[in-house]
Amino acid sequence: MLAQRLRSPDEVFHQIWKSTVFYVTSVAQQPTNHYRQLLRISGFTDPPELYEGESRAIPGTSSAMSMRRSKDKGRYMVANERLPVGAILTSEEPYASVLNFDKQNNHCLHCYTRLKRVVPCPTCSGVAYCSAPCANAGQVYHQWECQFMELMIGSGMSVNAALSMRMITQSPVEYFLQLVDAIRNNDEHPHLKIYNLETHSQTREPKDFVYRTLMAILQLEIIRASGYFGACGS
Ligand SMILES: [Zn+2]
Ligand SMILES: [Zn+2]
Repeated sequence: MLAQRLRSPDEVFHQIWKSTVFYVTSVAQQPTNHYRQLLRISGFTDPPELYEGESRAIPGTSSAMSMRRSKDKGRYMVANERLPVGAILTSEEPYASVLNFDKQNNHCLHCYTRLKRVVPCPTCSGVAYCSAPCANAGQVYHQWECQFMELMIGSGMSVNAALSMRMITQSPVEYFLQLVDAIRNNDEHPHLKIYNLETHSQTREPKDFVYRTLMAILQLEIIRASGYFGACGS
């Protein structure tokens, strides 16, 4: 049913491709304010401009690129012309990001800069912020994760698994109730670009399924125990 929302193979590819980009770039959107903050820290005032402008067919991609398909490679990108060194071929705001667990003792949980002075989390000693604004912004999601950080780390949760949890905790439960309505009514919703991602479930090993299922249960129980669901969680 959800696959019908993706109107063409190109759109399906684009959803997968965009998700890969936000893993790779690890720049953040929390939503928009967090992304702007990271841009400022990295020296950019705006997202880097795409070489020769944005492709109409593939948003977030330079118009100097095209998509091709082949039987053995599937869908892939090619350059339409000879590209100069330094040409920016892809640039977009990622949906979510997380700080690696092993950097939490010396980097800001929210903007990821190395800590020179520390603004502690008010309720744990496992994470810290670089400033009061970062602390205020970070507590939006960390309030749900705070008392479970040791459990999350001790469980062997990967950074990608932590990222999937952050995609939930960074937004209020009402946001996901709106998502449910959007799916029912075939409306637009920002989370659909995550919800509609390709799962590759046909090619996964049984061991992988077991791990992902256990991790999903653990994350759900953590989020439920944190009080995130409020009155909706009972
Ligand atoms: Zn910060
Ligand atoms: Zn905390």
